[in-house]
Amino acid sequence: MSYQHIRLPENGEKITIQDGRLVVPDNPILGFVEGDGIGGDITRAAMRVWNAAVEKSYAGQRKVHWAELYLGEKAAGIYNGDYFPDETLAAVEDLIVSIKGPLTTPVGGGFRSLNVSLRQDLDLYACVRPVQYFDGVPSPMRRPEEVNAIIFRENTEDVYAGIEYESGTPENEKLARFLREEMGAEFFEGAGLGIKPISAFGSKRLVRKAIQYAIDHDHDSVTLVHKGNIQKFTEGAFRKWGYELAEEEFADQTISETDLWDIYDGNRPDGKVVIKDRIADIMFQLMQLRPAEFSVIATTNLNGDYLSDALAAEVGGMGIAPGANMADHVAVFEATHGTAPKYANLDKVNPSSLMFSGSMMFDYIGWGEVSALIASAFGKTISQRIVTYDFARQMDNATEVSTSAFADALIGNM
Ligand code: NAP
Repeated sequence: MSYQHIRLPENGEKITIQDGRLVVPDNPILGFVEGDGIGGDITRAAMRVWNAAVEKSYAGQRKVHWAELYLGEKAAGIYNGDYFPDETLAAVEDLIVSIKGPLTTPVGGGFRSLNVSLRQDLDLYACVRPVQYFDGVPSPMRRPEEVNAIIFRENTEDVYAGIEYESGTPENEKLARFLREEMGAEFFEGAGLGIKPISAFGSKRLVRKAIQYAIDHDHDSVTLVHKGNIQKFTEGAFRKWGYELAEEEFADQTISETDLWDIYDGNRPDGKVVIKDRIADIMFQLMQLRPAEFSVIATTNLNGDYLSDALAAEVGGMGIAPGANMADHVAVFEATHGTAPKYANLDKVNPSSLMFSGSMMFDYIGWGEVSALIASAFGKTISQRIVTYDFARQMDNATEVSTSAFADALIGNM
């Protein structure tokens, strides 16, 4: 494939897929999008950390060859005002694994959010967000060390599908008439109307990914989080399809929570992943009071949106929360916060969200030594109370450092 502005490094090789698995060479080309606002600062810092961790882990046997891809303001400068160039999308699919900084959604008519566009155009159907506590990180919890979960949020359906009709429009009135006259529905005059599609296809592929992850990484449970007591045919159906999928495709590796108690008296048989479910509202409480009971969480789009920010707050907030948007193979890892424009180019913010998204990326390509090294260097750096401003304002006796100095400290601690 030839590109107009993207340059693929000559000494790198592309990741490929064989028999449904990634084949990763020792010199893979990984894509990166710097992002807008603070994107430049955090990408420069995180990339130094990643490269140092790869070098220290493999002593030159393995090396990432980075290919810069363009989205957002940098893309607009290069591609004549195009914030979302087609060739970037093509490259993200072609390279399979990439990482991106945050992107501004330009204010004004005619722009979809670039992040939403990326998820939809590449059908990145799972938003994956691990929530893990590092000793010494400021947290509002009494026992934050009990929080260790990974959220699989459905990324393409639910109220995010954009099927909404504004009050007072002819479309709204037409739908309202249909609902009242043909379906017997009752609601107030002039109500805005939205449709929430949840399908078996969308639910099952998300739950499949979550269960496979739990099996591959030795997690003891997958919790389906839903609001099925009220929204029976969407949220309730997500729950039903989740259990169905577990039975259809993972019968040997999973058991339901009901069987766990009825047959095994609550003692999980070795190697089995327990499939359980919780209603969304109680889940928020449980994740504060008894977080140790949960590991992998699979949930619908809106629940997942709320839950991932709430859980991130338990272990240090958005400055440190990593994430990824994934299809079956193609994956775009990303900082979960935005562009924080007031801090752009001040070398001030915390690069950890992007940095840990990179750790997820290294785990994804099977280079677990790199993420382990980054985690231990991060732990050491925090224990030395060397932190960026966001942590410094919540900690006593902290040494506040810049984005780049924080990266230096991390590398020094590897
Ligand atoms: P934001 O950029 O996430 O910033 C909100 C606040 O979060 C910041 O003012 C800062 O808090 C804190 N923060 C964010 N990143 C941080 C970091 N790396 N280290 C430490 N603190 C950090 O949210 P926003 O101001 O609502 O959105 C700004 C732009 O970003 C918008 O254009 C929005 O569309 C876009 N956005 C993009 C993405 C994405 O690309 N994935 C996600 C969300 C928003 P303090 O002010 O308290 O220091």
